[in-house]
Amino acid sequence: MMRWQHQLADLGEFQADVSLAEKTTLGVGGAARWMFLPPDVAALQQALRCLPPTLALLPLGRGSNLLIADEGFDGLVIDTGALRELRRDGLTLVAGAGVRMPKLAQYAAQAGLSGIEFMATVPGDVGGGVAMNAGAFGQQWSDTLSWAEVVERDGQCRRYPATALSMRYRRTALPTGSIVVRAAVSLRQDDRDAVRQRMRRMRQQRGGSQPLEQPNCGSVFKNPAGDHAARLIEAAGLKGHCIGGAQISDVHANFIVNRGNATARDVVALIRLAQATVKEKFAIELEPEVRMSALSS
Ligand SMILES: Cc1cc2nc3c(=O)[nH]c(=O)nc-3n(C[C@H](O)[C@H](O)[C@H](O)COP(=O)(O)OP(=O)(O)OC[C@H]3O[C@@H](n4cnc5c(N)ncnc54)[C@H](O)[C@@H]3O)c2cc1C
Repeated sequence: MMRWQHQLADLGEFQADVSLAEKTTLGVGGAARWMFLPPDVAALQQALRCLPPTLALLPLGRGSNLLIADEGFDGLVIDTGALRELRRDGLTLVAGAGVRMPKLAQYAAQAGLSGIEFMATVPGDVGGGVAMNAGAFGQQWSDTLSWAEVVERDGQCRRYPATALSMRYRRTALPTGSIVVRAAVSLRQDDRDAVRQRMRRMRQQRGGSQPLEQPNCGSVFKNPAGDHAARLIEAAGLKGHCIGGAQISDVHANFIVNRGNATARDVVALIRLAQATVKEKFAIELEPEVRMSALSS
């Protein structure tokens, strides 16, 4: 092992050749050359100071919006799953990057705080939620995010107010190569049961309209202004279409499901087919929402 690898092994959990298919909800793709799971923010800061400057990094949360290439990821995956602090300060909740969004939503409901009910229906972590500006049911992270703390490539931990992150629909302008470690949301007081009921209704609505029993990565494309990617893909005649082991869901056309043996190549081929067909028929460019670790084939 090289010196930096020994250093990371001393600071946290360090492994080589880790299957990333098992770390993502879609369940496709190859292995990470290396993976590091820091036990706390200080260990992550120290680790970043040890790394060769050219080493490629990939932050990983729940892996619910990630398409990993079949060739895997030739660099260091940083899993923020152990950063799980969660506390309340008045109307503000502070959560570590590894807190699951549904857990944060439950915590808010328990405290009678409203504004993040949608998180009960999104399977990702706080870090991935901030990085994606995740949202649903008319709510998104940028509505309530007060600040995010990120560890940057130089190992410094810096706090950015949400206003400095240019958050838009499914997009957050994080400093290049930075890793979200903590975020604060400012909520409003509400009746606990009313918050819980809204969350329940959202979950029920989801259950019937998404292929939740098959491996998937949520919405594959962003909705173009004034329209829905699912409607366009369906109108293009692609709902249910298969390539290899991947299928454009016959339940929701903006989902691609893994029928058990899909490769990343199959998924990318479906993405490209949907983009080309929708462009040809409706002159609309579909932009992927799913993050691809590398665009192969
Ligand atoms: C069934 C299902 C339903 C979904 N519904 C919705 C929905 O309603 N709305 C919605 O917006 N999304 C939805 N998604 C997609 C996904 O859950 C969100 O995008 C979520 O925010 C991703 O979080 P994650 O922790 O899984 O991130 P990952 O998939 O692990 O990563 C996503 C991206 O964020 C980066 N990232 C992850 N953690 C960090 C970090 N700590 N610091 C910096 N960058 C980081 C990754 O490198 C990657 O580029 C759904 C997914 C599924 C499977």
